[in-house]
Amino acid sequence: MNNTTDFDYFNTLLVHSVGSSTGPIAPAIMPSAAFGYENAEEAEGIFSATVNKPLYARVGNPTNGKLEGIVAKMEGGLGAIATSSGMGAISMVCTAFLSAGDELLCIGGFFGGTYSLVNETLARFGVTNSFCEVDDFVHIEDTLKRGVKMVIFESVGNPSLTLPDVQRIIDLCNQYETVVMIDNTATPLLLRPLTMGADIVVHSSTKNMSGHSAALGGVAVFRAVKEEGDKLLNPKYADLHKIVKKMGKKSFIPICKKRAIRDYGMTANAFGSFMTMIGLETLSLRVERVNKSVEKIAAILDEKLPEGVSVNHPSLLSSPDNARYRSDFPDGCGPLLSLDCGTKERAFALLNKLNTVILTANIGDNRTLALHMTSTIYSDFNEEARKFLGVHEGLIRVSIGLEDPETIAEDFLQAAKAL
Ligand SMILES: *Cc1c(COP(=O)(O)O)cnc(C)c1O
Repeated sequence: MNNTTDFDYFNTLLVHSVGSSTGPIAPAIMPSAAFGYENAEEAEGIFSATVNKPLYARVGNPTNGKLEGIVAKMEGGLGAIATSSGMGAISMVCTAFLSAGDELLCIGGFFGGTYSLVNETLARFGVTNSFCEVDDFVHIEDTLKRGVKMVIFESVGNPSLTLPDVQRIIDLCNQYETVVMIDNTATPLLLRPLTMGADIVVHSSTKNMSGHSAALGGVAVFRAVKEEGDKLLNPKYADLHKIVKKMGKKSFIPICKKRAIRDYGMTANAFGSFMTMIGLETLSLRVERVNKSVEKIAAILDEKLPEGVSVNHPSLLSSPDNARYRSDFPDGCGPLLSLDCGTKERAFALLNKLNTVILTANIGDNRTLALHMTSTIYSDFNEEARKFLGVHEGLIRVSIGLEDPETIAEDFLQAAKAL
């Protein structure tokens, strides 16, 4: 598989898609919640989707529409829906496709919010689930054979940094006609799952896509539905057939709008989408820079950290994921690396000695960020869940930013040496 990213292609594509060549160069913000209709006939047409004009901002807004078109192009999809947050995008897709009695398969480690959405909230509404390790293909195939309704996984485990065999999982989901959604938050441009046969890609655009931490947002991107023999026509998706027969290749969008956005309202707002586009313009430049820096910082720390603190990143030969990293993620697997300090006390002491690195719960920011895991995001999780998610007492998650990589490596080294 050749997954090399053409960063220059995306640099050109993104600046020219966000900006216009005539009139206002920056995207226009359209904050209106409601839109006047020409006449009663037009209103009827808008509601039945035969007239393509804004209906009401909960189900679509022109500024969101501009962002959705750009992200769809970037991911190689047919269309997209911008949402209020990354969790908004994930819960929109899950609630649009799943009903009480359905089963969801979750492969690999998950972001804390997704883990609790599945284990607590969806479970409360009668959706059952199972979790398995990324390479547990016996469980994956058994579950698919049983008729599971949807499969979800993350392109890179956060914070475990495990790497899945993305192509193999997608191929199996296609073989068993099962909808597969990939959370690509950590790896925009580095991995394009829709071009590999996936159905849905979601992002927290709060992270890498924006970079500036000035807008909470999410986006779900969809493939085109095939005219014949599409997996959505499998009998297990019978409750979607009416929409698929009416809406054809665009069907993923009305499925999510009619079965989730309209009723839950996890919609993006125009100003948030505007801010996300301002970030998107420079995404390709930033992704290329950050992924080079992560490798460089991991290598320096691997060589120079004192006894008792170690660094984990798939680019290191010591990582069990190194072979998959080199074959499937040749331009990097995102901004994260992790440090193991052994105990919570030592992790706290290291964090408290950092000068440049910022302590916060975000990732994919233009600044380098660090956080102790078990005392924050995973403080509510029991021992079994933490073990599965690869979270232990001495673990610090680090998200590398745009700074000079030598400065960042030096900051961690001086903090570790002072322990
Ligand atoms: C942050 C994050 C989310 C949730 O996104 P929000 O915008 O914070 O709701 C989902 N998945 C991953 C991998 C994330 O890092």
